[in-house]
Amino acid sequence: MRKAIYPGSFDPITNGHMDIIGRASRLFDTVYVCVAQNLNKVPYFTLEERVAMVKEACQELPNVEVIATEALVVETARRVGATAIVRGLRAVTDFEYEFQLAAANEYMDKNIETVFLTASAGKGFISSSTIKEFRRFGTEIRPLVPPCVIAYFEKKERE
Ligand code: ADP
Repeated sequence: MRKAIYPGSFDPITNGHMDIIGRASRLFDTVYVCVAQNLNKVPYFTLEERVAMVKEACQELPNVEVIATEALVVETARRVGATAIVRGLRAVTDFEYEFQLAAANEYMDKNIETVFLTASAGKGFISSSTIKEFRRFGTEIRPLVPPCVIAYFEKKERE
């Protein structure tokens, strides 16, 4: 059984993430989408909201499981028995950060391999930050996120 973990902030989950999840689910027997804390980012949605959104968005993918972690990704990968960490690459700007992260993870555990999938055509510009900015300034985000994300924005905006 080949298991992979796909960690991220998912603040919120986008169609760019969904594209990576769908493709990873065809490469591995099980994909754990892992909603993680990113100490460098203050999230808009709480961890619980992000997990709930990702679960709703992935409910039709049978070999995808959603988990949350406050631990290091490598530790979480070991705990669930994943031997690969999946990350997405959009542009050269992602490369430096992702390359450094992959090296740090390799330093912690050489048996866990980082696998990069490049953004599909037309999806490379989608990021959680762009979605939040679009939403704030009234640009339509429906084509860019799973349908459930809209309801979470509406709920948050009423708070
Ligand atoms: P993090 O805070 O860990 O970077 P993100 O939720 O922003 O979490 O992203 C998780 C992963 O998904 C990262 O590897 C990121 O490069 C990748 N990713 C995000 N958006 C896209 C996209 N549109 N296409 C491909 N990969 C993406």
